[in-house]
Amino acid sequence: MNYDYPPYRPPSEAGSALLRVVRGCTWNRCAFCSMYKDLKFEQRSKEEIFREIEHLREFFPAARTAFLGDSNPLVHKDIVEIVRYLREKNPWIERVTAYARARTVARMKREKLEALRDVGLNRLHIGMESGDEEILEMIGKGATSEDLINAGKNAKEFFEVSFYYILGLGGREKLKNHALNSAMVVNKAKPDFVRVRTLTVIPGTPLERMVGRKITLLTPEEQLRELKILVENIDTETYFTCDHVSNYLFHNNRAFFMGVHGRLPDERERMLEDIENALELVNVLDDVMNSNDMAKLGRIIM
Ligand code: SF4
Repeated sequence: MNYDYPPYRPPSEAGSALLRVVRGCTWNRCAFCSMYKDLKFEQRSKEEIFREIEHLREFFPAARTAFLGDSNPLVHKDIVEIVRYLREKNPWIERVTAYARARTVARMKREKLEALRDVGLNRLHIGMESGDEEILEMIGKGATSEDLINAGKNAKEFFEVSFYYILGLGGREKLKNHALNSAMVVNKAKPDFVRVRTLTVIPGTPLERMVGRKITLLTPEEQLRELKILVENIDTETYFTCDHVSNYLFHNNRAFFMGVHGRLPDERERMLEDIENALELVNVLDDVMNSNDMAKLGRIIM
């Protein structure tokens, strides 16, 4: 039997069994994203998915959790039945998670979200990217800050929620507004996790053409300054983490800063201290590189 692996999943789902419910993305228009550009969106047949569910353990013998692909599986017409069958046939699964588009969750009926929770969906990964209206418009996110807040509120009632933030997405030009307005959205949406990704410009994407015209990429120092504003202004209780290599800073090929991680607001002071220490190093060291620089030189893979 051939198994249809989803091509992408969050790093926190590295150990999860992967179940592809849809192929591609319903939106596929975000300016920074190249993930599903060559893929026409489709819902996989329920029969095909059910066959894979029956054999999931054979493909993922060590997994304890499961992740539903690709980018917006909640739109599948049989999603409740699929999650129910997944749980029924695989009682070893401790947690089921999925990516979800903010606008989809913001508009989803309460009953549907409740049904998904009842059959065993536990966590949603939602790309906030930015809480700033101008940036959301510029990147073609297809969601407003109000959608993001509603998505967070709706989802939080039934699931654990991760929000993703792209550091540097507004460039030097919108550094402050990007961080402040994103903190405002986080404070209202109250996700359980805020996960930071520093902007990686992917060749061939619309965002690549904006660089130098609409946005100026951040220096390592600016990267840290934006991170500091974000951490300073999130007041809701959440776990904040830079759990991706794109956030690292390097000197002589060694990472000296690997982001900040901790509970906000309780661990804010310690996290700000870590950022201040990194800022001091950036100011005294020569040739500090960020992950994009390192990736271009082939020294890391992102
Ligand atoms: S919604 Fe997600 S997968 Fe779809 S284009 Fe935007 S970032 Fe990419």
